[in-house]
Amino acid sequence: MANKGDNLPVSAMPIDGTFPTGTAQWEKRNLAQEIPVWDQAVCIQCGKCAMVCPHAVIRPKVVEPALLANAPATLKSRDAIDRDWKGLKYILQVSPEDCTGCGLCVEICPAKNKTETRFKAINMKPQPPLRESERENWNFFLSLPDLDRRKINATKINQQQVQRPLFEFSGACSGCGETPYVKLLSQLYGDRR
Ligand code: SF4
Ligand code: SF4
Repeated sequence: MANKGDNLPVSAMPIDGTFPTGTAQWEKRNLAQEIPVWDQAVCIQCGKCAMVCPHAVIRPKVVEPALLANAPATLKSRDAIDRDWKGLKYILQVSPEDCTGCGLCVEICPAKNKTETRFKAINMKPQPPLRESERENWNFFLSLPDLDRRKINATKINQQQVQRPLFEFSGACSGCGETPYVKLLSQLYGDRR
């Protein structure tokens, strides 16, 4: 990350050759000039944006309303539409500093704003003015519990996508067409082989 890899002596490597995983979360690359912004009133909560994101940056969660009592002022949520989630709140959150700005999530989004058809349920907007508030929202989002996996119908994309991805923020090229599948496998099967 600091471009000093060539200075590392072999003795600095782990003695058994294994390295910790899940470390991409610590490297905030801030690549995106624009990030997706959710319009919760237009969203049909289909989960396709999260499914297609190559970097596990846009994610849904479904939680008890009481858990949002101390949410940051700019965190968005809406009543969950799926009948299995009656009484729960649906959140679609982006990690602003991990987004690459590829726009695939907006491309795939099937929901159009009926009053202004050039807009969808997510729309790209400049990242810098949103960085601070969305970072706070993302950190709060991460602190919310995941839904019990036993209660998720993994044959429905909207429900399956609330499974936590264990392959996240990969350094793959922006808009990669392979990493969403690796991510999906990590959601479906966790750390089991
Ligand atoms: S713009 Fe690309 S990286 Fe960012 S949330 Fe959408 S699909 Fe993911
Ligand atoms: S793809 Fe569009 S409609 Fe579907 S969950 Fe994402 S923002 Fe909502």
